[in-house]
Amino acid sequence: MEPLNALIQKIAAGRPFQQDSEKILERLMQNPRIRAFAERNAAIGKEQWMRSLTNLYQFVEEWDHCDRCPGFENCPNMMAGYQPHLFEDKGVPALTFSPCPLLRENEARRRQSELIRSYYVPKDILQATFETIDKLDPGRQKAIKAAVDFVRDYLKNPETTRGLYLCGSFGVGKTYLMGAIMHRLAERRHIASLIVYTPDFFREIKGAIQDHSVDRKLEVLKKTPVLILDDIGAETMTPWIRDEVLGSVLQYRMMEHLPTLYTSNFDYDELQDHFSYSQKSGVEGVKAGRLMERIRHFTTLIKMQGPNRR
Ligand code: ADP
Ligand code: MG
Repeated sequence: MEPLNALIQKIAAGRPFQQDSEKILERLMQNPRIRAFAERNAAIGKEQWMRSLTNLYQFVEEWDHCDRCPGFENCPNMMAGYQPHLFEDKGVPALTFSPCPLLRENEARRRQSELIRSYYVPKDILQATFETIDKLDPGRQKAIKAAVDFVRDYLKNPETTRGLYLCGSFGVGKTYLMGAIMHRLAERRHIASLIVYTPDFFREIKGAIQDHSVDRKLEVLKKTPVLILDDIGAETMTPWIRDEVLGSVLQYRMMEHLPTLYTSNFDYDELQDHFSYSQKSGVEGVKAGRLMERIRHFTTLIKMQGPNRR
């Protein structure tokens, strides 16, 4: 028996014999998907079927690829990631295409990753999800539960949910846990969040005075639905950073009822001390206290313990 694709090539080359075409049709009609379509569309006559041979062949070939799917990256279909469907167009079998499940999944993932933005925090340490996070370590269980609760409460009441203040030593997994929060927010309700590595961001903002881009840069931090300030306390503090930068971002977010989450090596009191001292102005307890109130009042403190995982 002549192979189907050799017969098809004759058609493509424009020199089929009637006999060949009939053989091809006969073979194609044995395909269960085509048979099912033919049963639903019994009115289609033989001549119409014959006019649609290349469509039918493409249909069979592409579903054959899908049945032995080599993965989205290697999709051999004419339009990668699309599957053909037959429909009747003025009495003739015709093709239409729809995205396959892998393409849809891929697009959902891409949309999700656009919601998870980071500034100076490497994307790869934000790969965590609550499903994959290692939960066995007792020093982390409380933090994981608080993170899960935060997402649940935020999805119910975005305006009244307090942020988290996650403190603990270097390498216990604070930033990683924030990654899991961001993923879940994106996945459950398409909520955008932004994580900022605070020391680098503050350094950048000092540089932004010269080109007058401070306001524009702060705008992003002010308006993101969920903001995570990573490693707060590790930056070099100045009164300007404290009052005009951090103070103004937190003031705005408080007025708009937008939650802010933090990770830090310091607890509340240690962070307040850090805000109090600067090389230029010495001790400024009152201003530090005022800023700290904005953090304390709008977050729940969670201490995270465990081995350094780095
Ligand atoms: P921290 O922010 O507390 O300094 P990180 O979140 O950066 O710590 O975590 C340190 C390292 O350990 C990272 O490489 C991270 O990928 C890994 N890690 C942290 N928590 C977990 C976890 N629960 N399961 C698996 N790996 C983790
Ligand atoms: Mg960290």
